[in-house]
Formats: sequence, C-alpha cells, structure tokens
Amino acid sequence: MGDIFFGVDYYPEHWERSRWETDAKLMQEMGIQTVRMAEFSWHKLEPQEGEYDFTWLDDAIALLAKYGIKTIVGTPSAAPPAWMINKHPDILPIDTMGRVRGFGGRHHDCQSNPTYREYIRKMVTKLAKHYGENENVIGWQPDNELGNSHFDLCTCDNCRKSFQNWLKDKYQTTDKLNQAWGTAFWSQEYNDFSEVFTPRITVTGENPSAMLDWKRFCSDLIIDFTKEQTDIIRKYAKNQFVTHNFMGFADKVDYYKLGELFDFVSHDQYPGGFYLPETATPHEKNHVLAATLDVIRGYKNQTYWLMEQQSGITGWETMGRAPAPGQLSVWALQSIAHGADAIVFFRWRTCAVGTEQYWHGILPHSGNPGRRYEELKTTMQEMLPLMKKMQGSMPKAEVGMVFSFEQDYAFQIQPHHKDLDYIGQVQKYYKALYDQNIPVDFISDKGDFSKYKLLVAPLQYLMNPKLEEKYMSYVKNGGHLILTMRTGVKDDNNLCMTDRELPGRLSEITGMEVLDYDCLRNAFVKVEYQGREYQANIWSDLMHLMPETEVMATYASEFYAGEPCITRHAYGDGCCYYIGTEPGEELMLQLMENICHGANVEKLADRIEDVEYMTRENASTRWLFVINHSDKRKEIPQITGYTMVKGKKMGVLEGYEVQIYEKLK
Ligand SMILES: [Zn+2]
Repeated sequence: MGDIFFGVDYYPEHWERSRWETDAKLMQEMGIQTVRMAEFSWHKLEPQEGEYDFTWLDDAIALLAKYGIKTIVGTPSAAPPAWMINKHPDILPIDTMGRVRGFGGRHHDCQSNPTYREYIRKMVTKLAKHYGENENVIGWQPDNELGNSHFDLCTCDNCRKSFQNWLKDKYQTTDKLNQAWGTAFWSQEYNDFSEVFTPRITVTGENPSAMLDWKRFCSDLIIDFTKEQTDIIRKYAKNQFVTHNFMGFADKVDYYKLGELFDFVSHDQYPGGFYLPETATPHEKNHVLAATLDVIRGYKNQTYWLMEQQSGITGWETMGRAPAPGQLSVWALQSIAHGADAIVFFRWRTCAVGTEQYWHGILPHSGNPGRRYEELKTTMQEMLPLMKKMQGSMPKAEVGMVFSFEQDYAFQIQPHHKDLDYIGQVQKYYKALYDQNIPVDFISDKGDFSKYKLLVAPLQYLMNPKLEEKYMSYVKNGGHLILTMRTGVKDDNNLCMTDRELPGRLSEITGMEVLDYDCLRNAFVKVEYQGREYQANIWSDLMHLMPETEVMATYASEFYAGEPCITRHAYGDGCCYYIGTEPGEELMLQLMENICHGANVEKLADRIEDVEYMTRENASTRWLFVINHSDKRKEIPQITGYTMVKGKKMGVLEGYEVQIYEKLK
C-alpha cells in the first residue's frame, strides 16, 4: 500500500492532549509512518446517543499528519458504551450456559441484535462520511480481532431467529433438515424451523450435525456483521483500503471467507504470549510462529500487514517473559520473511489504565524512550529501503498444506481422542517441514493444488465428491499427496459415510481400505520404519492393501503387530501416501524427509537448531532470510550466489541476528 512500511497502534484518548505532540515527534524520529486509532473508542466518538464528537480524533489525525504520519481508522464496534447497554440490555450476549455476559470487557455484544446493528450502521456511516476523503486517512479496520474475543457465541432469541432463517435458506424444508441432522436419533425431529434451538448446555451430549451447522452459522454471522461495515466504508472511502486484524489460527470465523471482504488481510502476532502451552520452550514455539504467518498469507494468497506486532512484554492479569535484546526485531523480521509488507507495532505507549496495563508498548509507562524504542528504531531504519524493494514479493513454496475451518469444526465437536485437535495435527506435519527449512503454503481445499509438488492434507474427515475428485486428479496429474487417518469418514452434514470402506472413493488413489481401527486411549503404538522402531500416537488404522500398494511402515505392537501402518500407492503420474496413525516427532521428521525427497522438494538449507531460513521473491529478485531465534552465536554454511544486504558477518549469526541475502534472477 504505497510507501507505508512501519506503524504503531496509538491511543491518544488515554493521555493528556499536551503529550500528543511529543508522541508525534518521537514517532517521526523513529520512522513511524502510520498509526491505527479509535477502534475501541465508541464513547469518545458518541458520548450520548446521537451526539457525535469526532473533534479529538480530527485533532489527533491533523497533528500526526504534521509529522508525516497517516492514520488508519478503526470502527469501535468491539466496545459498545454503557449508555447503549443500559438502554438496550438485550445487546449483551447470552452464552451457552444461558448466562448474560456483562459489561466491562470487550465484545459484549450480540452480532444478530438489530438495535445494535442499527447503532453500528449510524456510527460507521458518520465515520466514513467524515473521514472517507480525508487525505491523512489511508485505511480502515472494522471492529477488532473478529471471532477472537467471543469464547462463546451468543445464543439469545435474536440469534435463534437468525439461525432458523439460515437453516431455512439452506434446507428449504424440515424434512431435509431432519435428514441432514439425523434427527431420528433421540427423537430430535423438527416439525417447523421455528422449533430449532440455539445450542445451550444439554443434559448429555449434542447432535454433531446440528453443531456443525451452528458453527457454520456463527462464522457466517460474523462475516455478515463485518460486511455491513465494509460496504458502508467502501461507499464513502473510495481511495482508502479496508483491512482487518486476523489472529492466525483463531477459528470462530472462516478466515478465507472473511478475507474476501478486504483489500488485504492483517494479523496480530504475539510470540510472547497466550498462543501456546505454558510449558512450550522457545524452540517449540518457532514453528508455530512461522505456521501462523504462513496461514495468514494463505487466506488471500497474497502479502499482508501486521496490524499488531509485539513490542514489549505481553500480559493482562499475568505476564509473559521480557523479550531479550534483539528478540522484538527477530519477530518483526520473521513476519516480513513470511510475507508481511508492513509492520504496525502494538502499542505506542504502555497503558496506565484498564485491562491492558501490562500489555507493554514501545514506550514504557513513563513515556521515556528506552531500549525497545532504540532497538525498533534501528530495525525500521535498516529495513526501510529493503521493504520498498520487497513489497508484494511472496515466498515460493513447493509444498502446500490443506487447512480447512470445516474440518476443524468437525474435530472440535468430536475430537475422537483427548489429545487430538485438527490445528495441532496440521502443525505437527508443518513442523517436520519447518525443521527441514522447506517453505510451506497453507491452502484452502477450494484452492489450486496443481502448483505444488507435494500436498499435505491431514485429517480430511468431512468429504464430498467434488473434493474427492480434486485429490484424485491432483495425483493423477503427477502430484504427491499425503492423506492420513480419519479421511473420508463423514459427509458434509457430519453424518458417517456408509456406502464403502474408508477412505471411500479415495481408496482408488490410496490403494488401500481401512477395515478396522483402534483409538489409542492412554496408549501409544510402536511402528517399524526402515528397520527402526518409532513411537506413534492417538490412532491406528488397520488396512487391507491392493496388490500394487507399497508398505512403508508396519505396526510393531498391539494385536495388529506386523500389519501395514503407512503406505504408498502410485496412481496416474503421481502417488498417494496414507498415514494411518499420528507419527511421533522422530518418525514424522524421518518420514517427511523421505517423502519430500521423493517429491523433489527443495530444502533451503540443512537444519541448524533455532535457525530459520525463508525466502521471498518477485519477477526479478529473490531474498533469503536467515533468522537466529536464540541468544547463541551460530555458525552457518556460506551462502553462495547471493549478496548480503543485511547482516554482520557471512558464515556467522550472532544471537538474535537476522541476515538477509539478495539475488537477481
Ligand atoms: Zn444473540
């Protein structure tokens, strides 16, 4: 987007006006070119119903512009004010326990509520008319982290009505609904759409088909809620962009569909907090951070912005570790390496008030520039000329990994095993690629598979004839495909397939059928692969093989010891691997190395612990990033054919150093 590469999230409304100019000066000296403002400030913009007051924001925008800083305006719909909630308490959401969630946090709203939607339409129209042609405003962010704050989506009567209408559109008749949901079980038939409930806590169990539609409905509701705002903004702000701060693998809304509303997607990246189990070591995090950035790039298959990049200790009630000197820069550069065209740091100054008092900014509470300011200033100034050249360039991956929100929803509803979750499983396969320095694209199951040498498609649990056909023709045309346990189990209604053995029609490309299986509850299984014994977990598929199918690994324990566990089947010009278990980390790495080798996939480098290699390229130039995620000095092999454009010494990476190399094509 033009010449903007670095920014910061700014909350002038939290501070005395007398400080604003100091902030603007310090930002300019640092290299900040844009700020995002106002995304939670409904009351400051409309202190009483119908009394709009944008003067403070006008003044902040104008003052920042004097220092060359442009503004991205956030709409405040994540924080309806107390006057509105008191007048219309039905805006508050009702959780699945039937409890009203109260005022005092954020996103305390029902997105179906017509009164709230009307307030939002008025507010966004006023804002868009007011700032749509302001030359100091470059873009918009409706709401904030949609689908993230809503741990339970609302189950109120408005949502119930919306859900019923959504079902009516989808099924037309209750006969079709009853069939799709398998309501013959436990007498759940409906005579009329108006009888359908939103899911509240039940005495025991839930209908998996109804739950899948509920999750789809909730995702569609968030998209509809957002579209109403983007439509208004686009009407009045024709030359300004519209984006939104996504949250990596957050899964309340289908980010592929939500992404269609925006010019580009943005992301909030907090390596220091709240993503990962408390026990994860830094080494265990790096691949998750990389996967998170790759999935963001995948939502629109284009470069993206960081709308919130960590700039200090994270924390609400409890806090994360202090980023070590150099680490904030490493994280920002990792975002760039995976496809970020601009980095907006969160936040400018650590807030003295409210829930995020300990979610630290570039400046500490005191407002005096310290080590974080100096570190990020140096990084911005070093990176600015490179960012200009790299704008729009993309990593070029030979491996695609299928990532689907619907599969995720189905496993949320029935995880099978206490340690199985879809996103975690996808990330285990990703790690084996990351550890080999192999770039990966995440791709929707509706995307174009044909550009990848290897396609990894874990847990393709919900299946339909169209997707079967896509996988079959991918392999037939020369692709190497990995399918796994629990593929082809259910149809799109979350009903079990009964017409064939698993994995259904895909057995034509897998060259095997699953005749039985074992859920490894409180157990693991031994697997023999290339003469060595490994551990595998969660699940064992017991298969019958077609004569031409190759056995790659066999079970080495349980009543099925000696039976095939991992297979390879040539089909057309390609081949299909079937992995009937969850390989433990060692087996996964070994197996994926061999499969990648077989598919002729390029590694950027041999593995060095805590060192990440990544590339971006455009028609003329290729850049290679080498990132040291640790505080230790690392010897790395010489990089030939490239010119070093950032870095201290070839062959040596200092602790938390990132080197960048450039090659003309
Ligand atoms: Zn509701």
